[in-house]
Formats: sequence, C-alpha cells, structure tokens
Amino acid sequence: MEKSDQAPDRYETISIESKIREGVFHKVVKDLETGKSVSCSCKYWSKGNKPCFGMKTIGV
Ligand SMILES: [Zn+2]
Repeated sequence: MEKSDQAPDRYETISIESKIREGVFHKVVKDLETGKSVSCSCKYWSKGNKPCFGMKTIGV
C-alpha cells in the first residue's frame, strides 16, 4: 500500500476575529508540525506580507 505524500492533517485553519473591525475574521493557517502560523486570508498577509494580529496570536 502506498501512502500519500500530503498529510491531510498537517495544517489547521483557525478563525480569529479582528479586534479592530468587528465581523472580520482572520483565517489563519497553522502548521501543526511547528505549531506556528504560515499564512492568513487577510490583506496584511496576502498583500503586505506582514504577520497580522491573527498570525501573531497563534505564533509566527
Ligand atoms: Zn490575518
């Protein structure tokens, strides 16, 4: 039997509500192996490439 290279449980998506804008959620992707966040859905990360509030909450 062959195992897939991609472990489906390696990443977890965690929603964290913004402190600044109500109803806005950071969908932070956490790497379960390192326990650190690797990306986020928000513009701070996707456009500015800066770790956002949500990512910092989980750990960068
Ligand atoms: Zn974010």
